[in-house]
Amino acid sequence: MFETLKPQPVDKILALMQMYRDDPRPVKVDLGVGVYKDASGLTPVMRAVKAAEHWIWENQDTKVYTGLTGHPAFADAMIDLVLADAVARDKIAAAATPGGTGAVRQAFELIRMANPEARVFVSDPTWPNHLSILDYVRIEAVSYRYFDEASRGVDLDGMLEDLKQVQKGDVVLLHGCCHNPTGANLNPVEWDAVIEVLLATGAIPMIDIAYQGFGEGLEQDAAATRKVAAAVPECLIVASCSKNFGIYRERTGLLMVISADASAQTLNQGTLAFLNRQNFSFPPDHGARIVSTILTDPALRQDWQEELEAVRNTMLGLRRQLADELQRLSGSDRFAFLAQHRGMFSRLGTSPDKVEALRVEHGIYMVGDSRMNIAGLNDETVPVLAKAIIDVEV
Ligand code: PMP
Repeated sequence: MFETLKPQPVDKILALMQMYRDDPRPVKVDLGVGVYKDASGLTPVMRAVKAAEHWIWENQDTKVYTGLTGHPAFADAMIDLVLADAVARDKIAAAATPGGTGAVRQAFELIRMANPEARVFVSDPTWPNHLSILDYVRIEAVSYRYFDEASRGVDLDGMLEDLKQVQKGDVVLLHGCCHNPTGANLNPVEWDAVIEVLLATGAIPMIDIAYQGFGEGLEQDAAATRKVAAAVPECLIVASCSKNFGIYRERTGLLMVISADASAQTLNQGTLAFLNRQNFSFPPDHGARIVSTILTDPALRQDWQEELEAVRNTMLGLRRQLADELQRLSGSDRFAFLAQHRGMFSRLGTSPDKVEALRVEHGIYMVGDSRMNIAGLNDETVPVLAKAIIDVEV
């Protein structure tokens, strides 16, 4: 039977990582996979995570199943982190999921269950997994303009024009902060314009927030999500703890469903439990417990915030260094956008040929669409990258 299977496309980023490992050159720079790396190329376990794991190891006395939607303390702590008091708690249904990806998958399944005709509008470009999961669960994806190739910022007019095509019952997928893969983000006034279109069309926003704390700061990065959630009657939010807690392999995420009133919340909560049950029963607990332990202990929370802030500032510093070096080498401001982008990524905005030339001639590894992981840089490799960008005439 299984001979009928067709080979699936290889993950481009994982293939790129392998090429990087096989490259024998002494100077090479990995800007591929989306994980935070410190100056020595390590992805460390955060101090508060270690301490929370220690506490759990000492105090946890059972590994019996949690609820189908996970440990309630995790949902409460994450709702507080992402939404603060933007929405009344009794309107929010929530379920822990295996990572942000699991939350995305469950959200799409929920959409399809509620409205089999729903289309999901996605930014052009978006995180490729959005597209492949939509395709897999057979939901139509419709792109809206987002990235402006000329300015490397957001094409707001194009975006708003495209979003006006959305119909009631459709979903608009938005990145809460630190857009992946471009690094280009809406400012607060631009978010207001998007909210206006959402209200006028009656479309349901779905906000993917995977990098809270990596952009402008923990509170600022959640501001748009809070504003949208407070403004519309119904909203989906998918949050990942992979990056801001550095617990990638623990698979920790939360799906939140905001409804117009508390009676709908009961129905939504039951549906989320049902969906978890069909797909994996109980969600992973270890990462969720680390997160709730940190967020509910003032000292651990403070330490986590400080370390996260240091991570954020490291990436901001690298952005500025790279933009300055390119300004010096090119004698122009055309790379200033690198310092304006936020989060882990920036789309350089160049052709696949030039991306290949950067790899072949200079040992610089970035994704084919010219997405760079800024955290893959350090003081020594910033000048190497800047020189290579000038050499291949990006
Ligand atoms: N959404 C976006 C936009 C992402 O970039 C990521 C991480 N690459 C995720 C969701 C989910 O990540 P994870 O499943 O590792 O939590």
